[in-house]
Amino acid sequence: MDFDFTEEQIMARDTARKFAKEECEPTIDEDEKEHKFRPDRVRMMAELGFFGSVIKEEYGGTEMGHLAASIMAEEVASVHASWGLPFNMQMNGPAYTVQRFGNEEQKKRYVEKFVSGEYFGCFALTEANTGSDVSSMKTTATETDDGWVLNGSKTWISQGHVADYGLVYAYTDKDKGNKGMSAFIVDFKNTPGLTTVPIEEKFGLFCAPTSEMFFEDAKIPKDALMGARGAGFKICMTMLDTTRLSCAARAVGVAGACIDASVEYAKERIQFGKPISSFQMIQEQIAVMYAEHEASKLLVYRAAANKDKYPDKRLTHETSVAKYFAAESAVHCANTAMKILGSYGYSNEYPVGRYLRDAKSFQVVEGTSNIQKVIIARHAFA
Ligand SMILES: Cc1cc2nc3c(=O)[nH]c(=O)nc-3n(C[C@H](O)[C@H](O)[C@H](O)COP(=O)(O)OP(=O)(O)OC[C@H]3O[C@@H](n4cnc5c(N)ncnc54)[C@H](O)[C@@H]3O)c2cc1C
Repeated sequence: MDFDFTEEQIMARDTARKFAKEECEPTIDEDEKEHKFRPDRVRMMAELGFFGSVIKEEYGGTEMGHLAASIMAEEVASVHASWGLPFNMQMNGPAYTVQRFGNEEQKKRYVEKFVSGEYFGCFALTEANTGSDVSSMKTTATETDDGWVLNGSKTWISQGHVADYGLVYAYTDKDKGNKGMSAFIVDFKNTPGLTTVPIEEKFGLFCAPTSEMFFEDAKIPKDALMGARGAGFKICMTMLDTTRLSCAARAVGVAGACIDASVEYAKERIQFGKPISSFQMIQEQIAVMYAEHEASKLLVYRAAANKDKYPDKRLTHETSVAKYFAAESAVHCANTAMKILGSYGYSNEYPVGRYLRDAKSFQVVEGTSNIQKVIIARHAFA
């Protein structure tokens, strides 16, 4: 498989690299300390076209594709991983899923606005007792004469309390199992009975907001239903195939940053009268990080390139292989970087502690590493 990037992809990568260096890097310390989310930055990302790659031109997209989207997410995450999340919260989650499953009116009403940053988005499946086992969710949507009434709660929803509109998955016919789940486009700012609460403290991704939300007889209109009644589980799984890829791309970005930080430090740090880079054990650690990073990059690019080549295929297992390997190697690289930097790795003066905190999220979000292994094993045994 040939990964010579096209001129367009190189331009996208360079734009993302410049944005990350010029916009994100200068404020990292302040933002991390204050757990600061910057709405204007999301809008700037939108203006730069970051949320249009997998969206058709008629809905405001650029049609550059999944490979372009992945290399942009990688570039941004290599500087500050929190800012990789809006790719999913604006584009791969809401916009792309509405483009794929929404009716024409929904596509016209929402997709362009997620892409342009006019609407902030989110997607909500996780609940307090529902993570990996999506089918076990408790949230319900009951049909009435003039709409639907949502009851239940969601948690760990990225961008939940800043979202204008988001996708909410709920049971419309619980007795039908997975075929009784439906997907809704919900107005997060104007739905009585819907409240959102920020999750203030978390382990990493400090500048990417995360929320809980509660639906108490929350009335939404009839046309909030996206796709057929009962198609929600399939829609959700298809959405995850795409959001998962972007998460894997972010993991590649963080792993690359760990290598750069480790190499730079190892060249400068003198112990026993020589730079620690001259010690074979340090070289071995760097070599393993390097090989893992190269391998995850290739897996992510392959999955992305194939998504561009076969837009109607889900490519679930290829995406899971990429996500599993990239997430695990990002954590391994961050952990190794912490070791190479010794006590300075443990200091907030250096970024590697942040790399580790942020990398840990990749093993959890969009399906844990175990869940990726379940998918991969299912494919292997098929
Ligand atoms: C920063 C962050 C942002 C998030 N953003 C969103 C969002 O925007 N929208 C959203 O809906 N959710 C979001 N989530 C939630 C995330 O998707 C879930 O946390 C994830 O799916 C795992 O669910 P869980 O935490 O409930 O773990 P559980 O499913 O309870 O898993 C606990 C452990 O059991 C293991 N396990 C579970 N089932 C199996 C199995 N069959 N075989 C082997 N092992 C198994 C898991 O691998 C894990 O190690 C976010 C989470 C975080 C941390």
